[in-house]
Amino acid sequence: MNHEEQAETGRLEQLLASVGSALDDYLRFQQPDALVNQSHWKAHLNQPLPQTGEGIDAVVDELASEVIPYGSPVPRPGFCGYITTGATSASALATVAAQIASPQRYLLTAFNEIEEISLQWLAQLCGVPHLQGVYSTGGSVANLIALGGARQAAFERVGIDPARDGIDRPARVYASAECHHTIQRSCGVLGLGRNAVVAIDCDAAGRMRSDALRVAIQRDQQEGLLQMAIVVNAGATNTGAIDPLAEIADIAGEHEIWFHVDGAYGLPGILDERIAHLYQGLERADSVIVDPHKWLGASVGIGATFVRDREVLRRAFTQGEADYLEGTVEALGQGAEIEHSMDSFGIPYFDYGVELSSPSRGIVVWAMLKEIGVEGFRQRIRRHNDMARAIADAARQHENLELLLEPTLSVCCFRYVAAGVDDLDALNQQIFRQLVRENEVLPSTTRVNGKLALRPCWIGARSTMEHAEALVQAVLRIGGELVAGS
Ligand SMILES: *Cc1c(COP(=O)(O)O)cnc(C)c1O
Repeated sequence: MNHEEQAETGRLEQLLASVGSALDDYLRFQQPDALVNQSHWKAHLNQPLPQTGEGIDAVVDELASEVIPYGSPVPRPGFCGYITTGATSASALATVAAQIASPQRYLLTAFNEIEEISLQWLAQLCGVPHLQGVYSTGGSVANLIALGGARQAAFERVGIDPARDGIDRPARVYASAECHHTIQRSCGVLGLGRNAVVAIDCDAAGRMRSDALRVAIQRDQQEGLLQMAIVVNAGATNTGAIDPLAEIADIAGEHEIWFHVDGAYGLPGILDERIAHLYQGLERADSVIVDPHKWLGASVGIGATFVRDREVLRRAFTQGEADYLEGTVEALGQGAEIEHSMDSFGIPYFDYGVELSSPSRGIVVWAMLKEIGVEGFRQRIRRHNDMARAIADAARQHENLELLLEPTLSVCCFRYVAAGVDDLDALNQQIFRQLVRENEVLPSTTRVNGKLALRPCWIGARSTMEHAEALVQAVLRIGGELVAGS
């Protein structure tokens, strides 16, 4: 049995094999949902703080038998709720490799080199090869970093350094009414206040209306408000809608306002040639974000912000020199030869965002791209878009289904309808509840032009056309049963 402090620090070949075997079992998806057995595992897990250790083998056994089997529905092939998915093997393995061999992204290691290589690859993949990137934990922080850059640029133009001195006047951020609420939160964190965000109306397809944007900008100009950024979606969270990027880039250009594209989910959609034209204007963005942990299947905790020149991010986010960091390197003296990986921090990513300690995330993106290449991703993304289109086709054809919005990407908003049913929202809510109980195909719901929609969003590497078909069949069956039984 284990002694007070001797944590195992190796034996990974054997220990990873044990965990891997339990994970392979999990991925057969033969177990019911975690909550079905909650009394069992909750009783087992709720134990007092261990005063003495049981040793690594006991921990691995318990992970395998009492934790992993009661994991999340998110990796299931029929899961299409929210915009999240399970990691692919390449990405999970790269995560583990980095945690062991290069726990921090700084210092001149192969992992650090790959941090930058993979940012450039990702920028190329997403149609913004001229931009410079930095990784963070996900879309929330990636938006915060981008808007921090926008704030820096806008206030510097009126002679203020907001990172150093704070802001001295109200600012405005024009965002699609369909924008992700991390935009409002970012503005709160950046000291602008959530109310700095002006919601710009969308059309019935969920795309920002450029005429409404013009009106809002003109109104605020007359009031002399500092116009900080325009935020558009390349793949709205609700519907997958892509705002008219080129039209809005024109407006941003005319008024010299920072143009931010939130492509957390939808940016990789540019790989599908059938819709690539919808991304025209993207090349004029001042900042762009994408979440590798969404459509690319990375392990959760990886977002990327891209800007024209990371220098603006350094001015916005530098933590300031510290003796124990830069001081260590500077102590080498000017012009000293770099001869050890500790002699430089490499690209100072920690000054381009809000994290000092940070895992090497680029290795995950690198591994995924090495594994299947751009062509692999293109095919997967086309497959997911095809799945949304197949559901749309079924909804158009079947008298008991209604398509609520033509899909742009891999989201399809539709619902069940039946003559004589007044409250279709309630009916579809019941259908959704039953789908979740059955645990095979798991969409989420949203509202489209006031109507409750079933909303599958296909991004999982395990999800295929058969799951889209199964969803349609399940909705028809459950809807029919509910209507017959009422
Ligand atoms: C998911 C999402 C976010 C937030 O990203 P997280 O990785 O969940 O923090 C921001 N914007 C859009 C458009 C999103 O879809």
